Amino acid sequence: MGLVVQKFGGTSVGDATRIRRCAKRVAAAREDGREVVVVVSAMGHTTDELLQLAAEVSTSPGRRDLDLLLSTGEAVTAALMSMALRDLGHDAVPLTGGLLGIRTDRGYGSARIVAVETDAIARHLREGRIVVAAGFQGTAPDHSITTLGRGGSDTTAVALAAALGVREETGGVCEIYTDVDGVYTADPRIVPGARRLARISYEEMSELASLGAGVLHTRAVLFGQRYEVPIHVRHSAREAEGTMVVRESIDMERKAVVGCALTPDLARIAIRGIPNRPGVQGTIFRVLAEASLLVDDIIQNESADTADIAFTVAADRLGDVKIAAERAAAEVGAIGGVSVEVGLAKVSVVGVGMRTHTGVAATMFESLAAAGIRIANITTSEIKISCIVPKERGAEALAAVHDAFGLGSAAVPAPARVSATV
Ligand code: ADP
Ligand code: ASP
Ligand code: MG
Repeated sequence: MGLVVQKFGGTSVGDATRIRRCAKRVAAAREDGREVVVVVSAMGHTTDELLQLAAEVSTSPGRRDLDLLLSTGEAVTAALMSMALRDLGHDAVPLTGGLLGIRTDRGYGSARIVAVETDAIARHLREGRIVVAAGFQGTAPDHSITTLGRGGSDTTAVALAAALGVREETGGVCEIYTDVDGVYTADPRIVPGARRLARISYEEMSELASLGAGVLHTRAVLFGQRYEVPIHVRHSAREAEGTMVVRESIDMERKAVVGCALTPDLARIAIRGIPNRPGVQGTIFRVLAEASLLVDDIIQNESADTADIAFTVAADRLGDVKIAAERAAAEVGAIGGVSVEVGLAKVSVVGVGMRTHTGVAATMFESLAAAGIRIANITTSEIKISCIVPKERGAEALAAVHDAFGLGSAAVPAPARVSATV
């Protein structure tokens, strides 16, 4: 039997009892004769509490300082999990950032993994130990601690699994244990009628995750896809089937939409009166990229020889975005200034079957219209359609769309098919 990587999220390791309960699951896999790497998140709301503490100490905490602080949350759980495993009679070793061999760039706060050096982990496994990895962290070239972005312990788990050769062929698996028993057709906290999916493709899962389905970190899914790591999302306190995130299969093509997601809090920035000469768009978005700001959809309107450009961003970095947008507006000589609109949300539907079905957009727009919800903007890609809606109607919009595609029931009505796949 292959190696298993088991990752336990914050709620699952929220107190001593839960840590001991998760340790039993780890021990059971080891007693089954498997090699086990455990990845743990910080306990409960520790990461939020550490962020709050930093905000009380400093009005502008340094990003490197913050990463060192935040990484301690996962270190605490790793040490406790190792203790719990030893109590159950297993040899275990807790490893943090550098010791784990996870090398990243210097992008404190959302660092990218550039290499995983598995020598130390492999040696511990060979020597019969359970490796307990502190999730969410790595080290930069200067050995300083970095973190991978909120929810990043999933990415630690899948990256370690990929580097350790976890593949379907080798019988390995990366298990993500959380507080829900799998991936649902929508966040079950927002849409109570949502249904668990037995399987979902990497492509659909990464799209849903990036659009707000927080059950998995987007980059974890992308790692899984690139290295074909089977990812099994499961409930940490229940023996239930869960959801397998796997390669796309023909069977999955039958449904136009497999799930929907909500990005609950967006803002829209507009830069007006831009002299529309070649290169201005590049200048504006280069300034934002240099500040490591992620921009969502972009709309440009032209009038005479000027243009207005509006783009949406996550509301949590609005302050930084506004500063960068003002700098960009000055650089291109925009005469209309910068304006900010808050209170937006985005509802999206996702499915690889959209490539071969028509009517998906119409169904989505009609369902929002029937609920009396105004659409502020629409964006599409090959496998998703997103609508920007007023924030206060976000949850309602998600439920309406979920209903329109019949996602809560096992039989999903498919819009007309235009090209057949076998
Ligand atoms: P963990 O701490 O274990 O990493 P998260 O809070 O990050 O857990 O992710 C689990 C949560 O993701 C669930 O409680 C659920 O509310 C939310 N969620 C959002 N979208 C989905 C979805 N499509 N399917 C399942 N859970 C989802
Ligand atoms: N503790 C980190 C967070 O809360 C990472 C994680 O839990 O995945 O975002
Ligand atoms: Mg998570």
